[in-house]
Amino acid sequence: MGRKTKTQSSSLAGETITGPFFSRVVGQKVICSYLKKAIGHQRLAHAYLFTGAPGVGKDAVALDFATALLCDKFETSPEEAPCRTCPQCLLAARLQHPDLHITAPRPGKTSRTRMESEHQDGTTEFFDKKLLEALKKKATDHYFPVLLPRARDILIEHIRLLINQASRVPYQAKRKVFVIFYADKMNLNAQNAFLKILEEPPEDTHLLLMAEREGALLETIRSRCQHLIFQPLAAKDIEAELRVRQPDIGDAAPLISQLSGGSLHQALELTQMDWNALQSLVVNYLAACANRNPIELAAIFKKLLPDDYSNDYRGVHLTLGTLQLFLRDVATLQTARRAGKDMSLQLMLSSVKDRAEKLLDAFPDANSELAVRAVQTARDHLDRLYTPINILTELSYQLSHALGRKRKSQRAA
Ligand SMILES: [Zn+2]
Repeated sequence: MGRKTKTQSSSLAGETITGPFFSRVVGQKVICSYLKKAIGHQRLAHAYLFTGAPGVGKDAVALDFATALLCDKFETSPEEAPCRTCPQCLLAARLQHPDLHITAPRPGKTSRTRMESEHQDGTTEFFDKKLLEALKKKATDHYFPVLLPRARDILIEHIRLLINQASRVPYQAKRKVFVIFYADKMNLNAQNAFLKILEEPPEDTHLLLMAEREGALLETIRSRCQHLIFQPLAAKDIEAELRVRQPDIGDAAPLISQLSGGSLHQALELTQMDWNALQSLVVNYLAACANRNPIELAAIFKKLLPDDYSNDYRGVHLTLGTLQLFLRDVATLQTARRAGKDMSLQLMLSSVKDRAEKLLDAFPDANSELAVRAVQTARDHLDRLYTPINILTELSYQLSHALGRKRKSQRAA
């Protein structure tokens, strides 16, 4: 499926985070208000564990929380932290505060050696530079993922460094904050080393751990942290954020937010898609099902499935998601026709409305609700790793059944 050549534009690019506490965090109201209270009452845990899917805002919350902990106001009038104007806040906003320590996975020695032989610049300095670049981007967009190429683990050497830094007095603020991105990528040795600091954390130290896979962390680590679980974002919150970041996004915003699975990362990636091509593909697929045309179907399956063994079924996921939205529109139009009302405003894919109308003209007795459910079943099966070609074949049969008999002398959609 085609991607636009346009780079990911952001109206926020180049600015560090300003404004009230958590004002740049998307959704996650319950967690934000809980942490705001903890800051206001200076009632804090030494270690926090934030878990949730990628792109739901764990890092964004952690970095703003860290700023509040470092802010000068935190000591005197904590309810006003972060003030965004004191030297601590200004340095923390650039992620350059000497008491804000950030740990992220880095490539292990084997990967580094391999890259050194492959590329001239596969050295440690190369990765230090890459990490600095990533953190620079992270400072202007807290949703930017800090994941270096081939960085699979957080190793014991990184945790030893962290323990050493934690044993020192703060340089500039009253406390030290350690933020660990992808803490679930600590290998077992690193986790065991990390346990030591969790068992007896220095008085002026706070540890903020982000993790996608909670189960990858030792139970002894989890039980020593205050654990906050981040839920997927609501589609309306993602849509609003997309409109702020890309004011010219238009009709794609509601569609992308529906398909993003509650992740802002996923939504931003989807903004790079060629939506017109995807919508055409979906409509053509449905037409091939309706016309029971095995040759057309085979051609469409070929487009959807990866031709290598990558198991990358994102194309199928996206197509089924879009197909489901299209069929929901068909259902809405059908209801509107029967009630003699105009419900165009409720359509998700308004740009292919005429195709949905044509489909209904050709298949007046289509059971569109049944078709929507068939797509949902296919999506569930895909999540459970059934063979995609079998899922698509079964779905095509179900859809042709749901559409019912074709009105004579009409070609569908
Ligand atoms: Zn401040």
